[in-house]
Amino acid sequence: EFGEDEGDEADLVARPPVVTVMGHVDHGKTRLLDAIRKTNVVAREAGGITQHIGAYQITTEHEDEQRRITFIDTPGHEAFTAMRARGAKVTDIAILVVAADDGVKPQTIEALNHAQAADVPIVVAVNKIDKEGADPNKVRAQLTEYGLVAEEYGGSTLFVDISAKNDIGIENLLEAVLLTADAELDLRANPTMDAQGVAIEAHLDKGRGPVATVLVQRGTLRVGDSIVCGEAFGRVRAMLDENGDSIEEADPSRPVLVLGLTAVPGAGDNFIVVTDDRMARQIAQQRAARKRIADMAKSGRRRTLEEIFNEMEKGQADELKLIIKGDVSGSVEALEDALLKIDVGEEVRLRVLHRAVGAITEYDVNLAMADDNAVIIGFNVRPEVRARDLAEREGVDIRYYSVIYQAIEEIEAALKGMLKPEFEEVQMGTAEVREVFKVPKIGNIAGALVRSGLIVRNSKARIIRGGVVISDNLTVSSLRRFKDDATEVREGYECGIGVGYNDIKVDDVIETFEMREKPRV
Ligand code: GDP
Repeated sequence: EFGEDEGDEADLVARPPVVTVMGHVDHGKTRLLDAIRKTNVVAREAGGITQHIGAYQITTEHEDEQRRITFIDTPGHEAFTAMRARGAKVTDIAILVVAADDGVKPQTIEALNHAQAADVPIVVAVNKIDKEGADPNKVRAQLTEYGLVAEEYGGSTLFVDISAKNDIGIENLLEAVLLTADAELDLRANPTMDAQGVAIEAHLDKGRGPVATVLVQRGTLRVGDSIVCGEAFGRVRAMLDENGDSIEEADPSRPVLVLGLTAVPGAGDNFIVVTDDRMARQIAQQRAARKRIADMAKSGRRRTLEEIFNEMEKGQADELKLIIKGDVSGSVEALEDALLKIDVGEEVRLRVLHRAVGAITEYDVNLAMADDNAVIIGFNVRPEVRARDLAEREGVDIRYYSVIYQAIEEIEAALKGMLKPEFEEVQMGTAEVREVFKVPKIGNIAGALVRSGLIVRNSKARIIRGGVVISDNLTVSSLRRFKDDATEVREGYECGIGVGYNDIKVDDVIETFEMREKPRV
């Protein structure tokens, strides 16, 4: 999974808890987040203006220590759920706000269900205790039913009575958060590695372009780092904290507003720091491709490559990229489907760069050249002349298949580290059909001009019409120069070729080949 490798145990240091405030509407989540923000004991730099960037960090006194806590500044469990749906685990602890005058409400239960489902410990803030009719004990009693038993009732959940409006109990609440974190969680991260984390909020700013608030979860994010965030990428031009102050680096659990992305990421998108802008662009494109595949999967087409793309993101991938060309859309799809379903081991990546119906064109070869190890698969199709020349010149690997299982076996072998098959097809020659002769008992014989190489008797042959293989696995069973049998006929000469295919037509191309054992490297 994303970012699991944090290096040596010795590099792990304590990080602040990340807290989300949840609860029923109007129970005081927003007011509480404002009240907490004001408790910050660390003086801000002069001139900073409080900004709502989606999260903030405060420093508080706890057992004679200065401790930091990060709060996600978008109240409610919608954001929490949306991020979780994207696989982002942002929250360490949830504060469940319940108004003491209103008690447990439907959204209170929803919120606690979400927190429990995510395995996030809960601290209950019983709010509005300043109000007439406030009954904090009733809240405790009500929540017992949902498995949240207050410490004073013999349970393990901390309940704190507060008034967000009158600033009562806020310090106690922060205390409870830190006690819960210390008792139930092991919050450590490696600040020495390249940063990884999650986008919490992002938008397009008129003056500054795409801006994103990211939460650093591991490593340290620095100005100048190249990052990928979802399908967006770029170089960190500047970072601002919640006070609008510009900062140079952000350590684990620190939320920062990042400037310099080329697009707006989504809330819950993971970000990672990569070696350079080129890599960032590549990964962003891979993620886009992965998303397309995931979307396809949703629309009913099965795909098994998601895990592979995940690993590719980590940058340890030796992937095999394919360009698939085929005679009809059915075969292209069937082949692609089958290839993507290959049960790949851990060290294997396969990606289809492009797939289409028709002969292999210069475009395909160019595409393969752009990705240095891309292989072109021709399923019952052949390259156009210029495409073949280009591929030969540039050393682009083109593999021809006419049977799906054969393609799969070979690609599977390639994926397992044997890119070369044991036998490879060696092109012998091509001949163009000029006339067709009907020969009694033998069948149709092609009067042909040898266009390239040699036509050799008993070699394998196939018929190509308009760039498409229309018959394969044939054999050159008869070969004649004028009236005489010949064993081979070379380029530029005419001959009669019999391959046992009666539907042969003028302008068809006969291609001959041999299967030769591939020397092991
Ligand atoms: P949210 O919908 O959960 O974000 O709730 P808000 O923070 O917007 O608060 C809803 C209303 O309750 C607002 O009018 C707040 O001023 C009020 N409120 C919030 N906390 C308290 C409190 O501790 N005491 C009193 N009396 N009112 C509060």
